[in-house]
Amino acid sequence: MSLDALPSLRESLDAHGLLARKSFGQHFLLDLNVTRKIVRLAGPLAGQVIVEVGPGPGGLTRALLESDALCVLAIEKDARFLPLLAELAEAAPGRLSVIEGDALAVDVLAAARAVAPEAPVSIVANLPYNVGTPLLIAWLTAPAPPASLTLMFQKEVAERITAAPGEEAYGRLAVLCETLARAEVVMSLPARAFTPPPKVESAVVRLVPRQDRPPAALVSALERVTGAAFGQRRKMLRSSLKSLGGEALIAQAGIDPSLRAEAIDGTAFLRLAQALQP
Ligand code: SAM
Repeated sequence: MSLDALPSLRESLDAHGLLARKSFGQHFLLDLNVTRKIVRLAGPLAGQVIVEVGPGPGGLTRALLESDALCVLAIEKDARFLPLLAELAEAAPGRLSVIEGDALAVDVLAAARAVAPEAPVSIVANLPYNVGTPLLIAWLTAPAPPASLTLMFQKEVAERITAAPGEEAYGRLAVLCETLARAEVVMSLPARAFTPPPKVESAVVRLVPRQDRPPAALVSALERVTGAAFGQRRKMLRSSLKSLGGEALIAQAGIDPSLRAEAIDGTAFLRLAQALQP
């Protein structure tokens, strides 16, 4: 059977007797128009190995397989979906492999590079909400990050990833993401777009890791500075950064010590991180 001859996603779920499980964070996208749009926003994907975390019934997977991506490597924790995903793999010969496992425990980037060592790797996923942030940080700080990441988050998390100085959602996550990547919200989705609908709204964020990323040691120093500064975000830097060197450190970075963390952009935080390094 070819991809376009497959039964609808709802029919596939019914045929396999599958219902969403809360414990796995399952909220499915069953409208192929929506998943195709996400894949268009993720592009260009030509010739790339695409990692998908949590394919579930395979709505996003189908759209990825319809694209000009080289192939898809999907990792799914809930074994109930494997027979359904096997049917999808049959409909796209040689282009879909599925690992049964936990994306927090498996190095999916390494697995994708083993599939086609010369091809760029991108990640496209409608993630379970509880693992989205740790996975994003792991992928962005990896020694060889993916070419791009197009990921579904709950709306508040998407705002914390893309916030600018002065915005309420601005904090450690925004500084880290700005330092390591260019990030933008490319699509917003209401809860009713999912089956079953979650309690929150969602948004798709596309991130493109920067070529000129700071070395890992500087990123660790940055995390220490932002941890201290945003840990007491209402205080002036001279007091929130006291334990890391206070006024002397801030002067070395050329920053006004009476400012608060929320007013400092990523470049200034990097200068503080540089000043902190031996
Ligand atoms: N991609 C599908 C879609 O858009 O309809 C399903 C999205 S649903 C929000 C999240 C999926 O991730 C589920 O299929 C769930 O079983 C799977 N999942 C949850 N935790 C996981 C983990 N730690 N590693 C891999 N998959 C996981």
